[in-house]
Amino acid sequence: MSQKRVAIGIDLGGTNAKVGVVDGDGQVVAFDSGATNPERGPQVLVAEVVMLIDRVLEGVGLTRADVIGVGLGTPGPLSARTGTVIKAANLPGWVQVPLRMLFARALDLPVVLDNDANVAAYGEWWVGAGREWGDLVLLTLGTGVGGGVVLDGKVVQGHFENAAELGHMIVMPGGLPCNCGQRGCLEQYASAAAVARRVMSAIKDGETSSLAEAVARGEELDALAVEKAARAGDALSLSIWDEACYYLAVACVNIQHAFNPACVVLGGGMAGAGEFLLERVRGHFEGLKWHLHRDYPEILPAQLGYRAGVIGAAGYAWREQA
Ligand SMILES: [Zn+2]
Repeated sequence: MSQKRVAIGIDLGGTNAKVGVVDGDGQVVAFDSGATNPERGPQVLVAEVVMLIDRVLEGVGLTRADVIGVGLGTPGPLSARTGTVIKAANLPGWVQVPLRMLFARALDLPVVLDNDANVAAYGEWWVGAGREWGDLVLLTLGTGVGGGVVLDGKVVQGHFENAAELGHMIVMPGGLPCNCGQRGCLEQYASAAAVARRVMSAIKDGETSSLAEAVARGEELDALAVEKAARAGDALSLSIWDEACYYLAVACVNIQHAFNPACVVLGGGMAGAGEFLLERVRGHFEGLKWHLHRDYPEILPAQLGYRAGVIGAAGYAWREQA
């Protein structure tokens, strides 16, 4: 088959790289992932990911000749315009890396690059939760809170190419310090890591909880442990979980006024809680939102899961063709 009919999406993380072969309808034809060792430098990483791409293509009887182009989602901050990773927190030692050029040269294919949250948002807009809605804002609740904004089919980049840093929206002036240097950022209250951290810190301060024993044993809690305890009626876990939902609702109100999207989509590890998260966010949103106009976004779960990044990245490559 010589007619080009697939795009490659790459979702590059600090510990692994996901590669998807994606058709023009956003269907994943093949998918695989492999470990990355960013400390060995960009050249080694690019060579390993290229080998992974060739292997994934071969698995479905395709070659690079069948590929229209490559989309790459990678941790930021970066410049999508120049295709350069400026300085990525979880790619240690990577400063001013011309990643788009390295991949384009190694693959001999057109490559387009953007940050991981933006490509995931594009994927959800293209064929995921936002498919039937239109303008979309994505919040991913993981180690931090990632954000992506898609308006009129375009990913909002901003003049300084740093738009949609929604995890650093201040929801509590003077609140908890964030490693970005501000205080009271959304991600200090509503990321999966923050929820776990806040429960552990309250227990260490003497609050009672069904998780106290685990913390006393030195166990590191995660958001799933907090969710389970909250579902089982642990008052401390439930109150911190509910606070996370409250601050997400505050963010949704601010997002409504800033972007007026059709939907705000919640993804990432913590969104795996489903309605246990969504219903609470919607409930707080109901109490916080204005009633001047009926212009409220729907608050929806992400649909593409761990493949959002590769689908969205491939979507960028398809968009370049259009
Ligand atoms: Zn911050």
